[in-house]
Order: sequence, then C-alpha cells, then structure tokens
Amino acid sequence: MTLDTHCHLTHHRFADDANEAIARAREAGLSGCISIGTGVPDAQNCLELSRRNPGFIHCTAGLDPFTANDAGPRFADELDALRELLAGGGFCAVGEIGLDYHYDLQPRPVQSEQLASQLELAADLDLPVVIHVREAHEDMAALLREHGRNRGVIHSFTAGPTEAERYLELGWHLAFNGVLTFKNADDVREAARLTPRDRLLVETDSPYLAPIPHRGKRCEPALVLHTLERLALLHELPAEDLGAITTANARRLFALRVE
Ligand SMILES: [Zn+2]
Repeated sequence: MTLDTHCHLTHHRFADDANEAIARAREAGLSGCISIGTGVPDAQNCLELSRRNPGFIHCTAGLDPFTANDAGPRFADELDALRELLAGGGFCAVGEIGLDYHYDLQPRPVQSEQLASQLELAADLDLPVVIHVREAHEDMAALLREHGRNRGVIHSFTAGPTEAERYLELGWHLAFNGVLTFKNADDVREAARLTPRDRLLVETDSPYLAPIPHRGKRCEPALVLHTLERLALLHELPAEDLGAITTANARRLFALRVE
C-alpha cells in the first residue's frame, strides 16, 4: 500500500470510469490518491471528487504553466479566483505550478512571475506546493531558493542526481513515477537511490506515463505499485515497508485527513 501523490482523475480520459479507477485503487490496497487540479474549474471538479471519497481522494488547486498561458492577460483574475477557491478549504496543496521550458508557451520571465505569485499565495495560506518543472531546473532551484517560505514536492522527478541533490538541499521532497521503471532511466534511478527515505514520494501522473509493464497504455492510480516495487529494490526494502514510509511522508507533507 502507498499513496498516489499525483494523478489527474478529472482528465477527460477518465470521463467514463473515474469511479471504477478509484475502486481499483482501493482494491489494490492504496491508501489514497491526490487528484491534481489544473486551473480553477478543474480544481472544483477535483474538490467534488474528494468530497465524494472522503479520506481517500485528496485534491489540489493551481494554475499550471499551460492553464496560466491560456489565461494570458487575465492571469490576475485567475489568480484571484484561485485564492478564493483555496480559501474555501478542502485542498491539501497549491499546484501543480511551475516552469515548462520544453513547450515554452510563454516567455520565461512571465512563467517565473506566475510561479512566484502562486508560491507567495501558498506561503500565505501555509499550504505545501506541487511543482511541475521541465527543462528548467536551474531557474526553478533559484526561484525556490529565493522564495524560502515554501515547502513541497518536485513532481514527476525525471532528472539526475545533480538536480536531485539541489532540491533535497533546499528541503524539497521528490516524487517518482513510471519513468523510474523505463529502461533508459538509469539517471533517474540513481537520483531515487540517493534520496533520503523521509523525502520520497511516489505518483502515477495518470493518465500519463504508465510504468512498465503497462507502458504506452492509459495510466491509473493502481499502477503506482509497479513504481513502488522498483523504488523498493533501489532502497533495498520490502515494498510494504516503503509503501508505509511513502504514505507517512505524503500524510505529513500534505497534512492529509485520514478516515
Ligand atoms: Zn500533473
């Protein structure tokens, strides 16, 4: 058993069977899932899902780089709406928010500004943060260092030991997903191996990045167990023990309500 700390159960690819996917997660022995809200309407859907599954589905709200890009000049309004939504309670984190230099949908200084304003919001609300970072590790580490009031997780960590050490030094958690099981991911495995146990989290990023042996198919939370097993091998622990550790880490970081 472990907790899937990052999935998108409100994604259109779960439109027909989100409830079945949740049931399969329970059957697989998971201790919960965090459904990530990208944008205000999506986060409202996540909140509803979490209210229907108390103590098992938790949720977050944030303006990710894609949503923020769509908002464009309306970003300030979106941020106000996000603040209001978060103030209503029921969310365990702000996110995912971040920098994406792979798609570069907006000028980089704009991305940094939008991230910074949401880091401030999270710190004001005393909520942890879920970070999305793609091909932007230098700038991300600098921003997180500058905004020293935040805590949280670097989600979908798929970089190597150097980047891992930088985030760990700053006090952040690292969440590993299906990529950890991919053949060409030795760097990611090395990063996972050197991450202290009390900073480890696992996730699926469903519907994306299904672990081997399901690679290429739609991912869902129950499949997080494949990633957990791989991580347990790297830490030379029984999977059950690492499951208990990663569950405890998630509950502590996100102050999760358990029912
Ligand atoms: Zn995500």
